[in-house]
This record gives sequence, C-alpha cells and structure tokens, in this order.
Amino acid sequence: MTPFRPIWKPPRRQTQATYNRFVRDPKHQEFYRSQSWQQTRERVIADNPLCGPCLLNGILEPSREVHHVESLKIAWDKRLDLDNLQALCVACHKRIERDGP
Ligand SMILES: [Zn+2]
Repeated sequence: MTPFRPIWKPPRRQTQATYNRFVRDPKHQEFYRSQSWQQTRERVIADNPLCGPCLLNGILEPSREVHHVESLKIAWDKRLDLDNLQALCVACHKRIERDGP
C-alpha cells in the first residue's frame, strides 16, 4: 500500500477584496443577496449611469457595480445610504477596492 497522499488542489484565484466582500462575513454575504440591496444598487446605477472616475478622465464608461465608500465592515449603518454609495465600472471598482480611492 502506498501512503495516503491528498490530491493537490490549486488555490482558488480570488482577490483580497473579493474575499473580504463575499467570504469572510456571512452577514455581508446575506446583505449582498438582499432585495433592499438589489433595489438600492439598481437605483444608484440608474441615477449614475456613467462611472464617475472614468468621467473625470473624459472616458464614457457605463456603471456596472456599486461601491461602498465606507465599507460594510466600517460603516454597516451606511450600507444603504445613497451618500455612501458610488456607481463605478468594473475596472474602477476593482482598482478602488484594491488601492483605495
Ligand atoms: Zn471607471
């Protein structure tokens, strides 16, 4: 008998930001699935159809995601506060989650 050797699995590729947002806290995970978030998110995108940072650079890029300026972890109370939400394109959202504003 050969000794048991676990099958090696490559680590899942995910950014720290994705991990923070979706994996670490089940409360946050549940929030992102909630109807109130889906509705708020759609409203923010409808009100801001173009990505703000891109617009400042003269680029017209449709907003696709909604960013929490103060994160859920820091400001749970502001999770649906329109003043705390920013409509962004995917690239800007990734960059801001990674590097900050
Ligand atoms: Zn952008």
